[in-house]
Amino acid sequence: MSIAENIRFFEEQLAGTGARLVVVTKTHPVERLQEAYEAGARIFGENRVQEMTAKQPELPADVEWHLIGHLQTNKVKYIAPFVHTVQSLDSLKLLEELEKQAAKHNRVIDALLQFHIAEEYTKTGLTLPEAEEMLTSATYQALRHVRITGVMGVATFTQDEAQLRREFQTLRGYFGQLRTRYFAEQPSFREISMGMSSDYALALQEGSTFIRVGSAIFGARG
Ligand SMILES: *Cc1c(COP(=O)(O)O)cnc(C)c1O
Repeated sequence: MSIAENIRFFEEQLAGTGARLVVVTKTHPVERLQEAYEAGARIFGENRVQEMTAKQPELPADVEWHLIGHLQTNKVKYIAPFVHTVQSLDSLKLLEELEKQAAKHNRVIDALLQFHIAEEYTKTGLTLPEAEEMLTSATYQALRHVRITGVMGVATFTQDEAQLRREFQTLRGYFGQLRTRYFAEQPSFREISMGMSSDYALALQEGSTFIRVGSAIFGARG
């Protein structure tokens, strides 16, 4: 199957769900991103700053670039001029730096709170109390250049459907609680980013609004 056919397949899976496709382009050369663009993809996800900044000028300006990997504060300045959404917001320090760098460019950057939902201790992300601490901080109250639009999580790498469902439900639960407590007046808080090539169908059933798909579109990474 070609990249274009795969993208069409996912667009069909998403039809009527209201969810959107983040095409995960990490490790793939610009020509393949262009192929995806020509097939209609407009949201690209990269997990490394250096790779994203190298590719961004080569693609049309209407691509929405989403950072989906851990972001070090000292690298925010490189993506602040163009990044649309940082899906991996996981600390107050990072939020402060995003605000500062977005302000320099007079932009608003969207961000998703990344939660720890997997069993594996290596997968990073916030706990609910940590997220609430961020949302009640003075930094958060003073934000003008970062807009928090939802939550993101990476589930355990497993075939166990019941476990995957539990993890996705946990993330949706966090989303619901935060929306009620902190975002009741803000319809822009609406995104639940969960589901990848192997588990997107379950994630959609559990309420995902962004599926992040790489290998099912481009084939296995080298
Ligand atoms: C690589 C990556 C994906 C895509 O994974 P595939 O299994 O190739 O679809 C999704 N989310 C994150 C955070 C990733 O790093």
